[in-house]
Amino acid sequence: MAEEASFRNAMMAATTPGLSVTSDSAAADQQPKKFPKGIVLGKDGKPCRSCTSFAAWAAQTKDKTKKDAAAGSRAVSTTAVASGPPADCPPDVETLGRSTWTLLHSIAASYPESPSRTQQSDLLSFVGLFSKLYPCWVCAEDFQGYMARQKPEVSSRDEFSQWLCRAHNDVNRKLGKPEFDCSRWDERWRTGWKDGRCD
Ligand SMILES: Cc1cc2nc3c(=O)[nH]c(=O)nc-3n(C[C@H](O)[C@H](O)[C@H](O)COP(=O)(O)OP(=O)(O)OC[C@H]3O[C@@H](n4cnc5c(N)ncnc54)[C@H](O)[C@@H]3O)c2cc1C
Repeated sequence: MAEEASFRNAMMAATTPGLSVTSDSAAADQQPKKFPKGIVLGKDGKPCRSCTSFAAWAAQTKDKTKKDAAAGSRAVSTTAVASGPPADCPPDVETLGRSTWTLLHSIAASYPESPSRTQQSDLLSFVGLFSKLYPCWVCAEDFQGYMARQKPEVSSRDEFSQWLCRAHNDVNRKLGKPEFDCSRWDERWRTGWKDGRCD
């Protein structure tokens, strides 16, 4: 347990901007300091694409890209890096997150107002399995922690959508993003905005 915690801290220290890689833990000493800031390592100790922003990922290959560009081949512009990976590339943490929230909120939007016991149990199972299988392991562990503190509410669409909105806001806060007004959830994810721009 302690080893696991120390491993996780080492991974985060090695990869989180603002945290030092020169931690005094033994595990931190073993971490490859060659990785630039922002690269999140997977549990196998290798860089985890779906845990890392594309900007950090691209920085990792910066030297190679510079050489390629100098040779007149592939060049990745700053704008392309800032907007994430090309659409036909493996997702970074942000692309994956955006797509996943779209799926989760859309599931909430199609969830019945009065679900049967089976539907409630299916949704609980889905959310539980989702939180274990989510490819960004740091995200997954934090989400599991949130679920342990705030049990998923699946007794109606309204309950679930509001729970999910709060869960999403918890991640927004962690990332320093603005919180979403959950009273507008229905317009954002189900009916479309009242000004008609979604119709
Ligand atoms: C379970 C989970 C955990 C994650 N954990 C991490 C993490 O630990 N570290 C990390 O770097 N990234 C994490 N992500 C990814 C992160 O949440 C974002 O998806 C990513 O940073 C892209 O953000 P975005 O600004 O494009 O908007 P997103 O946060 O992806 O949101 C997409 C859209 O949803 C709407 N929205 C925003 N907030 C809410 C809300 N509260 N309720 C309803 N709708 C809302 C907005 O219209 C927004 O444009 C996680 C994603 C998921 C699904």
